[in-house]
Amino acid sequence: MTVALDSSRAAYERARLSIGGGVGSGLRAAMQPHPLFVRAARGAHVWDLDGDRYVDYVMAWGPMVLGHSDPRIIEAVAEVLPRMQVVGTGHEMEHRAAEAVLAAVPHGERLLWSNTGTEAVQVALRLARAGTGRRRVLKFAKSYHGWHDTVYAAMDEASDSAGSAVDERAMSASRGQSPSVLDDLVVARFNDVAQVERILGEAVERDLAAVLVDPIMSNAGVEVPSPEFLATLRSMCDRHGVVLIFDEVIAGFRIARGGAAERFGVRPDLSVFGKAMAGGFTQSAVVGRADLIDQVTSGVTHAGTFNANPIALAAVEATMGALAEPGLYAALEAISATFHDRIGGILDAAPDGGSLRRIGSLLQYVPGSGATGLHGTGGRWGEILAGMLRRGHQFMPSGKVFLSTAHTSSDIESTALALEQLLGAPNP
Ligand code: PLP
Repeated sequence: MTVALDSSRAAYERARLSIGGGVGSGLRAAMQPHPLFVRAARGAHVWDLDGDRYVDYVMAWGPMVLGHSDPRIIEAVAEVLPRMQVVGTGHEMEHRAAEAVLAAVPHGERLLWSNTGTEAVQVALRLARAGTGRRRVLKFAKSYHGWHDTVYAAMDEASDSAGSAVDERAMSASRGQSPSVLDDLVVARFNDVAQVERILGEAVERDLAAVLVDPIMSNAGVEVPSPEFLATLRSMCDRHGVVLIFDEVIAGFRIARGGAAERFGVRPDLSVFGKAMAGGFTQSAVVGRADLIDQVTSGVTHAGTFNANPIALAAVEATMGALAEPGLYAALEAISATFHDRIGGILDAAPDGGSLRRIGSLLQYVPGSGATGLHGTGGRWGEILAGMLRRGHQFMPSGKVFLSTAHTSSDIESTALALEQLLGAPNP
């Protein structure tokens, strides 16, 4: 069965006349054959403007770990919505939600609320610079930490081989980006223990304030950190007075309720959370050491009209409650393993089919060559993306796959049959 996509195509053409690029966020334009226009989303499914249903593996690019329109979140939001929207002063939801987040995160002493992951990363870096009196930040090649000038460095394979990861200099990733701020970055290779030992050993001379690491390289091929790598980051940061920041905007509350610190047993000084924290509402946070975070009372500016809005924080509190349900992460792991085995098996068997990497409920397609860029994957992914959308299964342009507690084995089986048909494999 294939879907027509007529209304989405027409809506996209119309949107391009009023919205730059026709999409609300630039990378969505990479969808093949064009972005889907959705009227409703519930559980593991979305419905387009024609009323056709899709199994959804985009899950809003990460937030919907409980599936779309989870009734517990909707109820919590509906209770607050008629009472207030934003108030620009204190309200109960902000400390109730903060207490719920801090209770879940092993190193959660204090937090700050922001709106997006990009914003929260900026706050975390400011806290690290203020706390150390140093300027520069060590990050890892191909890792994404938001679109802001100060962290957005070229991360594709070409720039790697041209030297960004090798000579440790960051290169601009966008036209219009200020080149001067890139000097604040030092770029290393993920999982390269010897390199980080050397760089962090020179932390004072290099003016290093922070290490900013996505512990699972969630936008660049999904990589398991070696235990030695994270332990080395922790011990070298301690020894040389550098602030260790985990960017858990994707990993947080997805790979474990306590995020990467719980999953890998290494506690950073600060973590940045977003996405899955708020069940689909706009919310991010910097969580960690009280002495660093309390600098906001001694000259470190953290501001935002929409910070700590009651609607999103009601969603955070409800999400934290739902994620505490016994057995939830085991069930999420089991459905994600089913997806990996079934869909990964089909890809493995197809000519040049590529493969899937997985950590918990996050997976990413890796082409046969093994090389993944940041926003594109190569291999047969473009063909799979467009072909599967036409068959009623929505995937991400980057080849990432987000599973949720709402996905079932029958969703996965229907996806498997469609993929077998697309790749020309015989049905079992
Ligand atoms: N950090 C990581 C690891 C991300 O994946 C993202 C977004 O995808 C961000 C930061 C930026 O978050 P936001 O899109 O909410 O600004």
